[in-house]
Amino acid sequence: MAAKAFKALILGPPGGGKGTLSKRLVRDFGFCHFSAGDALRAEIAAGSAIGNKAKDYIGRGALVPDELVTDLVLGQLENLKNEPRWLLDGFPRHAAQAVALDAKHDVDLVLDLDIPEAEILSRLGGRRVHVASGRSYHVEWNPPKREGIDDETGEPLVIRPDDTEEAIKKRLQHRT
Ligand code: ADP
Repeated sequence: MAAKAFKALILGPPGGGKGTLSKRLVRDFGFCHFSAGDALRAEIAAGSAIGNKAKDYIGRGALVPDELVTDLVLGQLENLKNEPRWLLDGFPRHAAQAVALDAKHDVDLVLDLDIPEAEILSRLGGRRVHVASGRSYHVEWNPPKREGIDDETGEPLVIRPDDTEEAIKKRLQHRT
């Protein structure tokens, strides 16, 4: 029997834990997780036309223009037709995106994370990521076994270009 459709959104500030919480929701409730930020980073890694346009905005901590993100996200959600239980992370970020999403999908649940700014600055400042898998560490609270190295692959961890203090402050001005 086909799974019953359930469409959920997870919103909240950068560093608010959307990714971490999403992983638990996927594990416990079998959602298909789709992150707007991950989709954009995949386009950048692939060197696509969208990725090349998005790169500069993301590096500066600015929002990527709506026409790029909305087409990308709504287009990729179309590909999830066989996955009726999805959790959309990081989209919409403002009213125009919400209107575009609403025109195509009936959303069942919205989770909106409310995290103090000081906590966010500390979380993002110490974040280190393994680009290929999206695994994320924190230098203090969730350090890798070897400093700067991913536990599973032995590959180097990086600081996301938008995790600099300047970019973080800018990202907080346009929190979801
Ligand atoms: P965070 O929530 O920590 O900012 P994300 O991975 O969700 O991280 O997003 C990283 C960057 O991707 C954002 O700073 C922004 O530049 C871009 N981005 C992600 N989602 C959107 C969106 N819905 N609209 C515009 N830009 C977006």
